[in-house]
Amino acid sequence: MKLKLYNVRGEEVVLAKVWAKKHDIEISLNEGPLTVDSVKEAQGFDGLVNAQLGPLDDAIYPMLKEMGIKQIAQRSAGVDMYNLDLAKENGIIITNVPSYSPESIAEFTVTIALNLIRHVELIRSQVKKHDFSWSLPLRGRVLGDMKVAVIGTGRIGLAAAKIFKGFGCQVMAYDIYQNPKAKEILDYKNSVEEAIMDADLVTLHMPATEDNHHLFDMDMFKKFKKDAILLNMARGSLLKTKDLLVALDEGLLAGAGIDTYEFESYYVPKNFENQEIKDKDFLALINHPKVIYTPHTAYYTDEAVKNLVESALNATLDIIETGTTATRVN
Ligand code: NAD
Repeated sequence: MKLKLYNVRGEEVVLAKVWAKKHDIEISLNEGPLTVDSVKEAQGFDGLVNAQLGPLDDAIYPMLKEMGIKQIAQRSAGVDMYNLDLAKENGIIITNVPSYSPESIAEFTVTIALNLIRHVELIRSQVKKHDFSWSLPLRGRVLGDMKVAVIGTGRIGLAAAKIFKGFGCQVMAYDIYQNPKAKEILDYKNSVEEAIMDADLVTLHMPATEDNHHLFDMDMFKKFKKDAILLNMARGSLLKTKDLLVALDEGLLAGAGIDTYEFESYYVPKNFENQEIKDKDFLALINHPKVIYTPHTAYYTDEAVKNLVESALNATLDIIETGTTATRVN
């Protein structure tokens, strides 16, 4: 059996090779993406593993069918970059890795919350200027005294809620489907508005859908408690970036921790050092004094990277050997 992996980053090479040795399977690693040109290199292989970032070219599905390839295993939870119907029409099963380490994203959420609450970036910048004085902008708040609203209480939202609860926070939540297990640690409200109105900290953990596109806009920010902090470790399109910047400037919000930006796919995960950032909103976001922006790194831990590589390879093997797998999405 021979498998081909696309968009392989250096750190994934060893993990993939260890898996291949264990299963006695030949693997070939492409650094580049899966394109109409590079797909030709998949000829003669039995399965594909990919880490697609933008939309996959529709022409690729019939090309794979022609080659006798029956699946693509995506090394992420999101599969919005695939045309699932077209894949199905061409007999291609798409799989994802739905849960690779919810704790990684949850712990990062709390890390950024604490950094914002205790003004760690500002303290560090003053110390670098040898200013060791105490002044009001550095004065923090106690996380455990805060009320937290968790929007989306699935794997990651619930893991974050548990940590906030552990600090002593009162946790409110909104989800379109209430999770009975979550009710032991949080209070469900009947709407997003009800969940956020008293919250000092609002953290988003729901997928991007047509219904929640730009749900967090100026109208919603006006309903926030004054001086609240917003955390978005879920998907950029959940909030309207332009409105967030105005809400921060006008003092409606005290700060924001943003790990996902709606037009991030051009920039993340790439190095733009010494290059011009043409997206003015993105530039304003990353330089805003009240924002901690991180480039989709909430998931990025040893555990998550290992789980992503191994789970995608396992799904590929499963489909080739049995015709299906538990993580198929079409
Ligand atoms: P999940 O499917 O376990 O939970 C999502 C929850 O959101 C579900 O309980 C669902 O009912 C709820 N939901 C859906 N639409 C909603 C809406 N309109 N309003 C309120 N709740 C809604 O997913 P998860 O594994 O917890 O992941 C949550 C999100 O985190 C993902 O969709 C993804 O966007 C994001 N994510 C980010 C990173 C990162 O590195 N920043 C990594 C992985 C996932």
